[in-house]
Amino acid sequence: MPEPQRVVVTGAGSGIGRAIADRLADENIDVRRLDIDGDRDGEGFDVTDENCWARLPYEGVTGLVNAAGIRVRSPLAETSLESFRSVIEVNLVGTFLALRWASRRPVDAETPKDLSVVTLASAVADRPVEHQIAYNSSKAAIINLTRSAARELAPFGIRVNAIGPGSVLTPMTESGWADEEHAERMRAEIPLGRPGRTNEISSVAAFLLGGGSSYMTGSVVTVDGGWTL
Ligand code: NAD
Repeated sequence: MPEPQRVVVTGAGSGIGRAIADRLADENIDVRRLDIDGDRDGEGFDVTDENCWARLPYEGVTGLVNAAGIRVRSPLAETSLESFRSVIEVNLVGTFLALRWASRRPVDAETPKDLSVVTLASAVADRPVEHQIAYNSSKAAIINLTRSAARELAPFGIRVNAIGPGSVLTPMTESGWADEEHAERMRAEIPLGRPGRTNEISSVAAFLLGGGSSYMTGSVVTVDGGWTL
């Protein structure tokens, strides 16, 4: 299997998506950085908007990483339907549209034969954290989306794998880690005793996009410092 040439990364304006895009660019891979916040480090692109996906060209694309995601924290009793739906929309519907885009890849001379898709699940799919019910359930569902798509798309040369990070220091989690009491509790719960770093996720993404993972599809690679053990 050839090494990646052109990779599309959503959520590339921040955190894990940005680290993945930077890592691939360092390896001289052509990276298309997409983010809803086009002012950040990428082109304006909303993963929940099917028109955005319809306009995204396939030419030369060997990899897709769907890292766009949001988390809203509130106790179940105080979680509005609107808030629940917004998280499901970005995390779950966004991943569905990413996978559907991959599945619609044309068979032509400009489109590489093999495609590797990486989704972002989370360790909370296995070990739910309180006060983020929409996020937890969206991430559990992303695992099933990933495995369903992996089975269906394997005959067409498309591999689909998920990364399940534990708590990684990014703008999504930094307020939690800045709270010393919370941080101490987390460090005690994580066998490796610290949050993950974004480069510890981007290295796994690079592996899943490359030829070294050519016999992997439908896998969920947990990268959580042992938190779910
Ligand atoms: P982040 O908030 O730093 O980055 C998320 C990016 O997604 C932002 O740049 C944001 O603008 C973009 N985005 C949000 N909605 C979008 C939309 N509709 N369309 C396009 N882009 C959109 O978060 P992060 O920590 O880097 O998280 C990246 C992914 O990793 C998410 O799916 C998240 O759920 C997952 N994850 C993160 C952790 C963690 O501890 N940080 C753990 C497990 C899983």
